[in-house]
Amino acid sequence: MLYRQIGKTGQKASILGFGCMRLPVINGKNHLIDEEKATAMVDYALRNGVNYFDTAYVYHSEIQFHAGMSEVFLGKALKHERKNIYLATKLPSWLIKTRDDMDRYLDHQLERLQTDHIDFYLLHGMNADKWKILSNLDVTGFLEAALADGRIKYAGFSFHDQFPLFREIVDSYDWSFCQIQYNYMDENYQAGRQGLQYAAAKDLGIIIMEPLRGGSLTARLPANVQKIWDAADIGRTPAEWALRFLWDKPEINVVLSGMTEMEHVVENIRIASEGIAQSLTDKELALIQEVKSIYQARTKVDCTGCHYCMPCPQGVNIPICFLQLNNALIYNDHKTARLRYNNFLKEQQRASNCVKCGRCEEACPQHIPIKDMLKEVVLELENTG
Ligand code: SF4
Ligand code: SF4
Repeated sequence: MLYRQIGKTGQKASILGFGCMRLPVINGKNHLIDEEKATAMVDYALRNGVNYFDTAYVYHSEIQFHAGMSEVFLGKALKHERKNIYLATKLPSWLIKTRDDMDRYLDHQLERLQTDHIDFYLLHGMNADKWKILSNLDVTGFLEAALADGRIKYAGFSFHDQFPLFREIVDSYDWSFCQIQYNYMDENYQAGRQGLQYAAAKDLGIIIMEPLRGGSLTARLPANVQKIWDAADIGRTPAEWALRFLWDKPEINVVLSGMTEMEHVVENIRIASEGIAQSLTDKELALIQEVKSIYQARTKVDCTGCHYCMPCPQGVNIPICFLQLNNALIYNDHKTARLRYNNFLKEQQRASNCVKCGRCEEACPQHIPIKDMLKEVVLELENTG
């Protein structure tokens, strides 16, 4: 296993982090973790040098966005290794209504994880709304107090919004690290490459989530993408190309992989053993760019997510509708796109609420026929037949 220093913290973590949001479960029930299988996977990871474990209050919950079983499982599985590993978990930001809630949840998390401290503590899923609410409740005061009394060692945040907000959050507090979505298809999405470089310049540790885009870069590959990987001089799996792309970047410290099967753990550990920064050749990087171009050519709507069309008087969230339409068609994965469409958008924000007033089309710098494209969204993502 290879190790890198997590930014200014001086702590050295394995470049592969064990993401505990997709552990094996029994009978497809998200909250029923298959402890035997999951423990074997964690043990294998530990024996092979993985020392960064990432969870959250809400992972493996029965009711979405409420207390889940991942922390509880991890508390048991890592009890005897606690001194040798870094534990990362997250404040459930959407459940916080008062300043006291923050202490209450952190104390509960310590109990569930059977520990007296969290090494890397994150504000979960920061976006404009959540950041505003937490800031108003003095979240940085809470973090300062938790750092001072030793309940947490390092403070950070995970992020799901656009770069300007990312910069604002980075600049608003002396964070030790951040967690962002990044993969070769998402270099201009959310915090993106700009965010990666901005955080690195401030010496923040950088933890990566969604390195395989939730599996989109490894499953149901378009034939022409598979052909490129097959023709490469060096035989690598799609997961290997995606992970090596990330570890090639020296700014990246830990790449989290949400592993569901023992074979994922074995494969990822094997790949991580070669994850040296700046080790890919120009030819290999060009190959990844070629694959990226093929995926991009499958884009249905050239929406840049600029938001000039917003707000829609009916409440339709036009950029997210198009993002999920593109995801469905680019990655040939309607199931995941529909799930995200339904999870991220309230009823009134969905495409079927468009009354075709046309206001948005006047504002769109890309001249997208928004009304017609929203019909496509309804067809592809709402009409499940
Ligand atoms: S055309 Fe539809 S999406 Fe556009 S502003 Fe009008 S109601 Fe909203
Ligand atoms: S204005 Fe056009 S490009 Fe910008 S978010 Fe709206 S649809 Fe997309």
